[in-house]
Amino acid sequence: MPLYLDYAATTPVRPEAAAAVMEVLTDGYGNPSSLYAPGRQAAAALKTRRVQLAEAVGCLPEELFFTSCGTEGDNWAIRAAVEAGKRKGKHLITTAIEHAAVLEPMKALELQGYEVTYLEPDETGVVSLADLKAALRPDTLLVSMMLVNNELGSVQPVTEAAKLVKAFDKDILFHTDAVQGFLKVPFTPKALGVDLLTLSGHKIHAPKGVGALWIKKELLTRNKVKPLLPGGGQENGLRSGTESTALIAGFAEAARLGRAEFEAAYNNMKDVKAYAVRTLPEQVEGLRILCDGAAPHILPISLPSYKSQVLVRWLSDQGVYLSAGSACHRGKASHVYAAMKLPKPVLDGVLRISFDGSTTRADVDRLAQALAGAKAALFTTLS
Ligand code: PLP
Repeated sequence: MPLYLDYAATTPVRPEAAAAVMEVLTDGYGNPSSLYAPGRQAAAALKTRRVQLAEAVGCLPEELFFTSCGTEGDNWAIRAAVEAGKRKGKHLITTAIEHAAVLEPMKALELQGYEVTYLEPDETGVVSLADLKAALRPDTLLVSMMLVNNELGSVQPVTEAAKLVKAFDKDILFHTDAVQGFLKVPFTPKALGVDLLTLSGHKIHAPKGVGALWIKKELLTRNKVKPLLPGGGQENGLRSGTESTALIAGFAEAARLGRAEFEAAYNNMKDVKAYAVRTLPEQVEGLRILCDGAAPHILPISLPSYKSQVLVRWLSDQGVYLSAGSACHRGKASHVYAAMKLPKPVLDGVLRISFDGSTTRADVDRLAQALAGAKAALFTTLS
């Protein structure tokens, strides 16, 4: 049996979600904008699915806008904030450890004359509120801070940060990329105190190609948010394109069930992660835990002086699947691990393990054996 330990990269679609997708693909295929019966049925089904997702997120259904992925949600949030704040200034704040879906739009804005401050993480993978406070300026229009880092598993202080930002200037918008946080750590957008929040389906056992942007009702009422994709006016005029009804059904179904199972999955992942943190260094000599962050499902480790891409391929041959993918983007060291200022041998051997609610302690033991095997079989860069 293969051992999949890369749930932060993507997850298998759960059977109930796949069945919900199939049902819409075959029976409920009407266009929700059509006026005849199948169209009206599709519109009603879409409404139900939006309510289900809203219940899982803990928000109002009209605050959710379906997108094609987390990347779209991040891009839209940043573009919309820039548009909304264009009279305010040209300064944005984010963290050095965001996903590329935030960093690349930020870089594009820099080329257009905007200024971006990148907050650096400390040795625990968390950015500092003091640094954020120091970075705020009268011309700051947006702060974008992710909830859970996808490579470190660290949880950023979003609630405190949003409070601090709003106390400084309530007109600064606050966006959080919650793609790795949804159904992994407890939160509601309202309790976080943010304005915009990104979600993605394929990290929660829904299909790839669907996500959502949560937009605070007050911003909608004040007509503050412009669409990224203007067109036929779907999603209340804010996200055009015929709604991907089948994928949305899968997303809402996975979210509904994920919410119902949240506590059990959370407790299990926390236990498995604590077990891994304790036993992996005991069972594999030289193995380093890079960050024991508060998210229950992500654990970065390193086998110093080994090459992570070689390790991933060797482990794959043993049926153990984990990631150097985020650690090494086509051979280039990850900006996240670089921001952690790790020594080169440690950086070389970075692996990311990530769990879901079904991962067991026995899986961790099997991983330990596989890693010990890799160490015995492979050369180090020092060999
Ligand atoms: N943000 C974070 C933190 C992620 O981990 C990912 C996916 O890896 C994304 C955004 C992008 O999401 P999607 O793959 O749905 O575009």
